[in-house]
Amino acid sequence: MWNNEYDGVYVEKQKETKSNVYLKKLGINPDIKTADGRILTLRNHAIMIKEISERSETDGGTSYRAVSLQPINPASAPDPFEANALNQFAKGALEVAIIENNKKSPVFRFAAPFRADGSCLECHAVKIGSLIGAVSLKIPITELVNHTQTTKLLIALTSFVILGLIIATSYGLIWRLVISLDIAQQHLIQLAQTDELTGLTNRRSILKRLKEEHERAARNHDPICVMIADVDFFKKINDSLGHPAGDYVLKSVTARMKAELRSYDIIGRIGGEEFVVVTPNTSLDDAVILADRLRKTIGSVPFIYQGTELLVTLSIGVAEMGASSGVEDAIKRADAALYRAKQCGRNRVEVDDEGESS
Ligand code: GH3
Ligand code: MG
Ligand code: MG
Repeated sequence: MWNNEYDGVYVEKQKETKSNVYLKKLGINPDIKTADGRILTLRNHAIMIKEISERSETDGGTSYRAVSLQPINPASAPDPFEANALNQFAKGALEVAIIENNKKSPVFRFAAPFRADGSCLECHAVKIGSLIGAVSLKIPITELVNHTQTTKLLIALTSFVILGLIIATSYGLIWRLVISLDIAQQHLIQLAQTDELTGLTNRRSILKRLKEEHERAARNHDPICVMIADVDFFKKINDSLGHPAGDYVLKSVTARMKAELRSYDIIGRIGGEEFVVVTPNTSLDDAVILADRLRKTIGSVPFIYQGTELLVTLSIGVAEMGASSGVEDAIKRADAALYRAKQCGRNRVEVDDEGESS
């Protein structure tokens, strides 16, 4: 534009500077001689663009040129991209850009329209404002594309790693949650099955165990007995020394009985001061011996509560659980025997005398 506004500029003609032959064709002599004998030659906008572009091309690979619909220089004839751009400019487009993906060296192509002003009329037979050509740029973008590819690869890799981390972390968290829930569930199950005061199996749970043991014994034709032990005059302890003393006695009775039982015997608390003991693989006679040992271990040595000696006794009813009788029936018979022990003066073991009821 600058060059065009001056109708071209003169430069000193060097050895390698060629005069613009196309000006000659237009009837303009490009060369003039100065008063001091130097030769100057006219560079118009077209040749100036060409020469700057050649330098730019050797420098960074970017080239540009003016292309014309009616080229004076045949080299300014449009290539297919430029021809298409000119076509679009004719329809009003303000710029056209594409990436020519010639695989080895991709090139960014850009073109903007040249519209005629007064200065163009000297060389081109056109109307002012009409399209006479375009400026066309070619920028090699191999490096940019390579850089983009590397960036894409990096982004993909980073996303992959981040996704992996997220999955691993989520998996870890969920796994920990599952474990915590599992522990909490186990704890709840344990709580639901345990008597809070004594830590023994509670009533609901011991009755379930009793049924299981009964079924196992029946399958193996093993004898199995059940006994119900009740602390004598327990109410008196509560009444005279208070509820905490009663609790202390219940815990102490539990500890002494547990110490006396065999590892496979099962003990639970089924009422206030009432315990049930299941003795697998034990005949009625042996169960009675065991019951008497339990009675003695409680009754022979007093408990000491806050300096006060408490002599506590147990009454126990024992019954055998036959293969054909139900657990409830055996408990009923053990309970009846316990009732008799209470009737007969307490601190004693009574045996079910009815045997298995049919
Ligand atoms: P018996 O010799 O006829 O069995 O008389 P007892 O006093 O032992 O029996 P009774 O059924 O009259 O009284 C039992 C008492 O046990 C009544 C109740 O307040 C008490 N008790 C029940 N559960 C607990 C407990 O967890 N802690 C304490 N301290 N006392 C309890
Ligand atoms: Mg009692
Ligand atoms: Mg009782």
